[in-house]
Amino acid sequence: MENHEPFLREAIALSKSAVENGDEPFGSVLVKDGAVILRAENSVFTGHDMTNHAEMNLVKMAAKQYDTAFLGGCTLYTSTEPCAMCSGAIYWSGIGRMVFACSEVRLGEIAGIGLNVPSRAVLETGARVVAVVGPTDLREEAAEVHQAFWPKHLGKI
Ligand SMILES: [Zn+2]
Repeated sequence: MENHEPFLREAIALSKSAVENGDEPFGSVLVKDGAVILRAENSVFTGHDMTNHAEMNLVKMAAKQYDTAFLGGCTLYTSTEPCAMCSGAIYWSGIGRMVFACSEVRLGEIAGIGLNVPSRAVLETGARVVAVVGPTDLREEAAEVHQAFWPKHLGKI
């Protein structure tokens, strides 16, 4: 069976790195043939752009370097389920598959934010179907990063 764990662990590590750099806890990697070819983390604050989600940053990097045919054979791994904006970006990028650890519902429980649109509602209903895997066994490991960040960030503790 395919092992998603190493790539999700790298995405989770990037979500921690984003917090250390002053941004929100989200990270993503792009994988082709079992190797990570691109890495991105959230940069909404340091980049002064609230659309700088990890997946958006990754998709934009990928689009500059690869064509859609190549990206069709790639998998985007992300620490937390992509929002509706990022799911749309993944759709348009041509990326063939997306795997996430923590669900958007779980993020909503912790942070109380989000568009509350399941990624599958976007990615599995388009003219081009993008395969979706998640949440996975690493969901709580990814959620712990949110629990450490959001209550403090939102001034709830
Ligand atoms: Zn997003």
